Amino acid sequence: MPSLPPQDIAIIGGGAAGTLTALHVLRQANGPLRIAILEPRPGLGRGGAHATEHAEHVLNVRAGGMSAFNAVPGDFVDWLQHDMAETPREALAASFQPRRRFAAYLAARLAQAQQASQATLIHLRVRALGLEQADDGFVLALADGTTLQAAAVVLATGNAPRPLPARGASSLPAGRRVEAWDIPAIERIAPEARVCIVGSGLSMVDAAMALLSAGHAGPLHVVSRHGLMPLPHVDGQPAHALDIDVFAALPLRARMRALRQEVADAQARSVPWQSVIDALRPHVQRLWTTLSADDQRRFLRHVVRLWDVHRHRIAPAIHQQLMAAMARGQLQGHRARLATAIAGERCVQLRGQGRVGQVLALDVEHVINATGVELRIQAMSNPLLTELIGRGLARPGPHGIGLDTAPDGRLRDANGHAQRGLFALGSLRIGTLWESLAIPELRGQAEGIAALVLAQ
Ligand SMILES: Cc1cc2nc3c(=O)[nH]c(=O)nc-3n(C[C@H](O)[C@H](O)[C@H](O)COP(=O)(O)OP(=O)(O)OC[C@H]3O[C@@H](n4cnc5c(N)ncnc54)[C@H](O)[C@@H]3O)c2cc1C
Repeated sequence: MPSLPPQDIAIIGGGAAGTLTALHVLRQANGPLRIAILEPRPGLGRGGAHATEHAEHVLNVRAGGMSAFNAVPGDFVDWLQHDMAETPREALAASFQPRRRFAAYLAARLAQAQQASQATLIHLRVRALGLEQADDGFVLALADGTTLQAAAVVLATGNAPRPLPARGASSLPAGRRVEAWDIPAIERIAPEARVCIVGSGLSMVDAAMALLSAGHAGPLHVVSRHGLMPLPHVDGQPAHALDIDVFAALPLRARMRALRQEVADAQARSVPWQSVIDALRPHVQRLWTTLSADDQRRFLRHVVRLWDVHRHRIAPAIHQQLMAAMARGQLQGHRARLATAIAGERCVQLRGQGRVGQVLALDVEHVINATGVELRIQAMSNPLLTELIGRGLARPGPHGIGLDTAPDGRLRDANGHAQRGLFALGSLRIGTLWESLAIPELRGQAEGIAALVLAQ
């Protein structure tokens, strides 16, 4: 197999996590170094979340929380101010910016770092399919038939979509079944069409907003097992202080009781529940790792949906638009477990089981899969990850979620040993850390991995 020129560092995945890693390596490098980032998509920093061109697809975090650097929390706001000098800084920091602007910010900071660094970065638009250990690091097998040798490898493969959970779904004709992340396919849906969105999290919000902003007039059904819709941030939210040590010392059930009490006490002082969740937010990794394995399992079984809607909130303006669509009867929520999706002559017949004794029966022209991010590593259908596990270079993370990693981000092999020169960040670490998807965690992990790789 032809081999590409060897690199010091190969970063697999050029979404936000991979791009942040490259950015931090470029900034920390104090000598010549070759970095390759492998990403089949055009452009870096976009990945699945930030590639959308829709202005309605806004960040779910205020601009003030989206810096690429822990040490400069206002850096994204500084960058925004260049083009929006007339907007007061506080207003910009509190705003929910279009996600495409965040991708442009990452690309701009990456370009600046490239100019200032002695290290060089190349973007190889190819997928990595395999990885094996070599004398001096690793050899990657790439989808174009070439190989690439690298002394250190960082896995930043990001979010994988979940399959539609209904028998028959995989054989629905193209166009009848649409993935929520496939915005061009959603844009092709006729304005009068009856649509069912399966899943009610942030991907549902993206799909619904893409349709509504394009003037969709047909009914939008939203089906999910729990029937919970994302909740909004509130404007002008006061800060709330809590004693995290108290929470971390409690088992799950007592912790949930303490949290409900904390919310009730805060609300009695006119502090919204959102402030309490935000006070917990920086400590979620500690809260996860201090739960016993049994309590983590209980959390995944009984609490996770409730946690998600309170933790992963949406901009108030977006929430208002969804509520308005519900109020006029266009958007209808259904709490049900989908069983089958059968292609009829001119529609898709969706059948399922609602709450006690209720039957779900919807005939729609299109079904949109918005079931969100796949956490189970075996179901991610990423050949690279499957091969890593097959070769014993990685093992599934706790509860089969993500990959097992050491606290510094090194991948643990089949025997649990943290490996030199092989790292993972982002959603691959979710089983170990739970809170490992959003930018505050990604930038911290990227900075730490950059320092370790350079030390090596
Ligand atoms: C709809 C949505 C909205 C979000 N909004 C926010 C927000 O407002 N604020 C926030 O902090 N977080 C948000 N998030 C969380 C989000 O997970 C992170 O912000 C971040 O974008 C994740 O980046 P990533 O690089 O880990 O993953 P991804 O964006 O999934 O990127 C991974 C990349 O790896 C590439 N890849 C995968 N396998 C291979 C391979 N074998 N070889 C080569 N390349 C490969 C893929 O092509 C992909 O581009 C959102 C997530 C979603 C899904």
